[in-house]
Order: sequence, then C-alpha cells, then structure tokens
Amino acid sequence: MVDKEELPYLRRCVELAAQALDAGDEPFGSVLVSAEGTVLLEDHNRVSGGDQTRHPEFAIARWAATHLTPDERAAATVYTSGEHCPMCAAAHGWVGLGRIVYVASSEQFAAWRGELGLPAPPVRAFPIREVVPSAVVDGPLPELAGEVRALYRRFHLGR
Ligand SMILES: [Zn+2]
Repeated sequence: MVDKEELPYLRRCVELAAQALDAGDEPFGSVLVSAEGTVLLEDHNRVSGGDQTRHPEFAIARWAATHLTPDERAAATVYTSGEHCPMCAAAHGWVGLGRIVYVASSEQFAAWRGELGLPAPPVRAFPIREVVPSAVVDGPLPELAGEVRALYRRFHLGR
C-alpha cells in the first residue's frame, strides 16, 4: 500500500528521471528516505559516460552502507521511478535496506521496450522479490506510470 503522503517522494523520482533525460541520460530517478521522512539521498541514472552500472538504486545502496547503521538502513525506504534491476535489487538486499516503492515495474518497461521494437537488455529483469525474497515492495503506481512511460519513449525516440 502506498500512502498518499508518499506521493511527493515518487513525484520527485519522476522529476529526477526527467532531469536525467535533460542531461542526456536514461530517465530513471530514485530517492532514499529515512524512517522519519527525511530525504537522505537523491540520484538519477548516470550511465551516459559509459558505465552501465551507474543506476541510482545502486548508488543509494552503497551510500547507505557507508552512512547509515544497519537499523537505519532497514527502516529507510527507497522510492524509485522504475523497479530495481537485479543488480540494484541485489545491492539493496546485501546492504539491508528497507521497503521499496516503485512507479513502473520491470514488466511494464519490457512491454514498452517491445512497443518500441528495442532489443532485450543484456541483463534479464526479474521482479525484486525473485532476487531478494524478503524485500517489502510496493508498486506499480498507475497514477504516475504514464509520465515514466513518456520519459522512456522520449529517451528512445528523441521526442
Ligand atoms: Zn539497476
């Protein structure tokens, strides 16, 4: 269940995704929020330089491992515009972060990729809980997924 008080965090993820697109990067954005509701870290994809591992969820996991206690990590929430890929889900699980809320699912991205006739990515997308069975996950969020789809299409179609 996504509480309506959480929507601003998810909107921020979509904004960060739009910023990434404006910067010539893939449109994905994420926010790490503490148990008290404080935004601890925001990031977006930074893969345009050639390092395809620079996803925001991965950056968040590594930041959290350095800056938060295990309890703080477990109580934090990661909001993200797109469901974690297996690499990021694994990083999330390894550092013991808490709940995940995503706007659009990997399944939706796969469908959108199909609509655009794009090739399959080199890493297969699994649902987060296939990678981290104990993860608490909410999403997708229909009210914002259309915006994420539009950004994704703009990235691949250039309009
Ligand atoms: Zn990822």
